[in-house]
Amino acid sequence: MTRIAHVLRRVQTRATPQHEKILGSNQVPNMAGGFAWKVSDWRRLDRFLVLGTEGGTFYIGERQLTLDNAQALLRVIEADGARVVRRIVEISAAGRAPKNDPALFALALASAKGDPATRKAALEVLPKVARTGAHLLHFAQYVEGFRGWGRGLRTAVQTWYAQPVDRLAYQAVKYRQRDGWAQRDLLRLAHPKAPDEQHQALYHWIVKGWDWAGDEPHPDPALRLIWAFERIQRATSTAEAVQLIREYRLPREAVPTQFLAAPEVWEALLETEMPITALIRNLATLTRVGLLVPGGEASRRIVARLGDAGQLRAARIHPIAVLAALKTYAQGKGERGKSTWTPVPQVIDALDAAFYATFQYVEPTGKCWLLALDVSGSMGMGTVAGVPGLTPRVASAAMALITAATEQHHTFLGFAHQLIPLAISPRQRLDDVVAAISGIPFGGTDCALPMLWAIEHKAKVDVFVVYTDSETWFGKIHPMQALAQYREKMAIRAKLIVVGMTSNGFTIADPDDAGALDVVGFDSAVPSVMADFVRA
Ligand code: CA
Repeated sequence: MTRIAHVLRRVQTRATPQHEKILGSNQVPNMAGGFAWKVSDWRRLDRFLVLGTEGGTFYIGERQLTLDNAQALLRVIEADGARVVRRIVEISAAGRAPKNDPALFALALASAKGDPATRKAALEVLPKVARTGAHLLHFAQYVEGFRGWGRGLRTAVQTWYAQPVDRLAYQAVKYRQRDGWAQRDLLRLAHPKAPDEQHQALYHWIVKGWDWAGDEPHPDPALRLIWAFERIQRATSTAEAVQLIREYRLPREAVPTQFLAAPEVWEALLETEMPITALIRNLATLTRVGLLVPGGEASRRIVARLGDAGQLRAARIHPIAVLAALKTYAQGKGERGKSTWTPVPQVIDALDAAFYATFQYVEPTGKCWLLALDVSGSMGMGTVAGVPGLTPRVASAAMALITAATEQHHTFLGFAHQLIPLAISPRQRLDDVVAAISGIPFGGTDCALPMLWAIEHKAKVDVFVVYTDSETWFGKIHPMQALAQYREKMAIRAKLIVVGMTSNGFTIADPDDAGALDVVGFDSAVPSVMADFVRA
């Protein structure tokens, strides 16, 4: 071959090395030295709302990643502020994200930087997004960075504090302060006019406290919780604390630390229907204080509650929260290794089942699914939703199990710069899968491998699902080109779903290919979105 023939032959559109842009495409450089597509700012909004930026990525620090997302957020707020506000409510109110903070941050930004209609809309939905006292305190923290306490913001906070007095009293004792902000500060800034005497008394307690906490419960039933809170602070015995918790349904946050080592205190908290969120978070403590033992009554009750799918959904329990609890609980020691406990196997099994139950139910499509997990080095860095040890690679394995549990015809494939054998199945318990995935060595990234594997093995695949950060760079051919070759050689109009596992701005899915879809990892609605796309 002459030199010119050689040079000309190497430029083509059917197989381009990943470190070059596909000729004629609108690909952009990713952070790894390869080329991918830029996701739209709207998709970036979804990634931000669901995945957040905590811990950054392998390539981008937490602060820069947050700034990049905030800039994308500003662009969509300017393009269509009302749509942004609707999207924030959609994702937040349905509990589709592991953490509510990105939604609160986005709402704060919209309430400051949107046009007047957007600002108004953002403040109107505040109670829908800031559903607890903790949410409101976090919102206050974010919003102060973007705007002052004008009338609109004051009115919104006033409305929040006008909620029914019994609910407000519960929020006030449960979330007195968070990260340097107290309910007191908010009331002072918003100075709401109390709608009635009960609210007036409650506001007074929040701001100044009561100098009265007599022996008799408060005459007003709506304010008895506050009275009980004051009493338990002065309690001198565990028996007294237990009695107050039982009678007035005090939440754990109201209980002084010195009582929290006593099993009977936890027993009382459990009996008064401890919220399931708190229950999941406190399983280790409940075991350590000796309340949870194999075959015990408390274990039986907790297993029953974890098995109640309706309750899990009503409380908006996110699968990540269950996964995080399971991962920590099963290892029998805290992240810093100080405290230890002996995990109760039935509780681990119940958490395993609860994980699957927290996703929306999906009708099987009956198609052939290739579930391809990027286990390269970058997927092993950073954390999902700030959960220690929960890397994108571990999280994506858990995510893939959901589809595997639904779809009978599925194949798992792991890849980095080469294919990696993956021995996981939805019949395994999640903690075993986490251990299996965590132990795989790291490598470079070639997201084309799943398609190349299917070509080589003539495997029938209706849909390739690639769980990745799209920081692909290693291969001789781009993933979309490999997909095109698969479609051609197998005469199957195979689809590609890219499950984005970080809130970066890239995707290997060509936005112009109707057979390719980019979704956001750990959106609890995603498995059903994927099934709909595959069925279409
Ligand atoms: Ca990588």
